[in-house]
Amino acid sequence: MKPSAFDYHAPTSVEEAVSLLAELGDEAKAIAGGQSLVPMLALRLTAFPHLVDLRKVAGIRGFEQREGGMWVGAATTQSAVERSAEIAERVPLLARATPLIGHFQIRNRGTVGGSLAHADAAAEYPAVALALDAELETASPRGTRTLPAAGFFTGMWTTGLAEDELLTGVRFPVAGPRCGYAVEEFARRRGDFAIAGAAVAIELDPQGRVARCGIGLFGLGPAAQRATAAERAVAGTAVAGGGSDAAAAEVGRIGVAELDSVPSDLHGTAEYRKRVGAAMVARAWQKAVREASGD
Ligand SMILES: Cc1cc2nc3c(=O)[nH]c(=O)nc-3n(C[C@H](O)[C@H](O)[C@H](O)COP(=O)(O)OP(=O)(O)OC[C@H]3O[C@@H](n4cnc5c(N)ncnc54)[C@H](O)[C@@H]3O)c2cc1C
Repeated sequence: MKPSAFDYHAPTSVEEAVSLLAELGDEAKAIAGGQSLVPMLALRLTAFPHLVDLRKVAGIRGFEQREGGMWVGAATTQSAVERSAEIAERVPLLARATPLIGHFQIRNRGTVGGSLAHADAAAEYPAVALALDAELETASPRGTRTLPAAGFFTGMWTTGLAEDELLTGVRFPVAGPRCGYAVEEFARRRGDFAIAGAAVAIELDPQGRVARCGIGLFGLGPAAQRATAAERAVAGTAVAGGGSDAAAAEVGRIGVAELDSVPSDLHGTAEYRKRVGAAMVARAWQKAVREASGD
């Protein structure tokens, strides 16, 4: 099928894009890489008489070290992230999650901001943003805001963004010494959305105790979420030496124990997803601990 007719707008600045979205109201939709929006338009699951393309908007693409962390422009493609040695070194969790998104052709068009704004429950980037406590920068006719990732993903394909608000960039904390990162997911085929997955970011203190731990879950609820009970359980515990299999399994068990809205569908029951999710948390936890401990 083909999308219904739309007018195409190609603003070149954030101000122009924001004022177009405000002026056209609910008749308009921003389009970034189109990797989620275009299939929905083509299948006529949704229709907008106006599309506001973000690809030519200046200042929302690329990445650079800024005060408060590594800034990644919302319109930066996933493949640009994947190719960047700087991202691999400074924001390893983002780098490691990227190859798990669809296929190369999809990542070549799909953007960081598009994935976060689309907020698919099974997508990798929202869980990464949660695990890292990333900060999301936005622009709207009311000015700019910075929102913590915590609380941003509010439900199935819904976020804290207002209708007329654009995501302009994301600030990720930069990796330091004694930090460890891992993302693990189970998908039926390479390139498919995950059935269940986990992104883990930890920092150890000089005595090898957990000083900070963020665990983002995906595929395990209506939206990406943090495994807060597991984060609390590991806070301050000694993991120097890499931690045991039994300890990792316990983190996985606690990580999914409190989940109460796990989807059941063709790909798996809620019970199955929880089992897989616990295994993904455990694996990611153990890898992150080993990296942070220097093992
Ligand atoms: C076959 C296939 C497999 C895929 N597999 C995966 C996968 O495994 N994991 C995964 O995470 N994703 C997957 N995707 C989705 C892909 O990552 C998309 O790129 C991503 O979800 C959306 O990014 P986009 O830039 O293409 O956004 P678009 O499709 O252009 O937009 C998506 C939504 O976000 C909004 N939006 C985009 N940018 C902004 C912005 N800056 N500010 C405000 N709103 C904005 C749009 O208005 C729209 O509502 C897959 C897609 C396909 C087609």
